[in-house]
Amino acid sequence: MNLSIRNKPLKSWKTSGDCHIFQVLNRRSNSYLIVAPSGNILVDTGKESSFSKLRQNIENLNSNNPGIDKLILTHAHFDHCENAFVLQKQENCQIYISEAEAEYAVAGCTPMPKGTILPTRFIIGLGKLLKLKSIPFKPFVPDVIVKADTDLSSSGVNIRLINTPGHSAGSLSVIIDNEIAIAGDAVFGIFFNSVFPPFGDNVKEVVNSWGKLLQTGCHTFLPGHGKAISRELLQRELDHFSRKLKKVN
Ligand SMILES: [Zn+2]
Repeated sequence: MNLSIRNKPLKSWKTSGDCHIFQVLNRRSNSYLIVAPSGNILVDTGKESSFSKLRQNIENLNSNNPGIDKLILTHAHFDHCENAFVLQKQENCQIYISEAEAEYAVAGCTPMPKGTILPTRFIIGLGKLLKLKSIPFKPFVPDVIVKADTDLSSSGVNIRLINTPGHSAGSLSVIIDNEIAIAGDAVFGIFFNSVFPPFGDNVKEVVNSWGKLLQTGCHTFLPGHGKAISRELLQRELDHFSRKLKKVN
């Protein structure tokens, strides 16, 4: 495969199963392109304002095959799916989303998540007070509704989709070759030595989902925001928050 990278090299990871994972957006939200022998899979789309950057990065990455065969959405918050409508039209790609998020995709709107730390609780509380609604996006109809943990290996790529709820009820993670996980907002990579999402509907479920992610063989967890997270850090955070939650209960 001829990879012609004309701009600054994108961050990338490679698995033993010959999947290349490129971070094709790293602004406010991350998007990742999985380049596998069987085709290109995009995970999350970023915001509408990042669309030309996303397009450009995918085209620069692989001028031989700049298309997208599948689009997997980790969840239906606008900053992850705002470009899904246009990509579906342009690429005719199959869109995968969990059952719990599908209705939001069709409605073009998702309920606001809760704040999990003091500053975000304040922001969300203020939003409610001002009767602000969550940010709408162009609605789209998903092609594949993921109802339970799903193995995509029949399509020629060793990828599993697992439910990792907590940030939102229908959050999904993408497990590639049991080595790398794209975990959406189940983990955050913006704080030093912490993976805790500042927004999320259910903290206990978030922590349970970390346990589920650690039950895979993955060594690296790629978040929806910020930098890659090591297995060691995620394990430390799981231990820390499990103790904290036990004290509360
Ligand atoms: Zn989110």
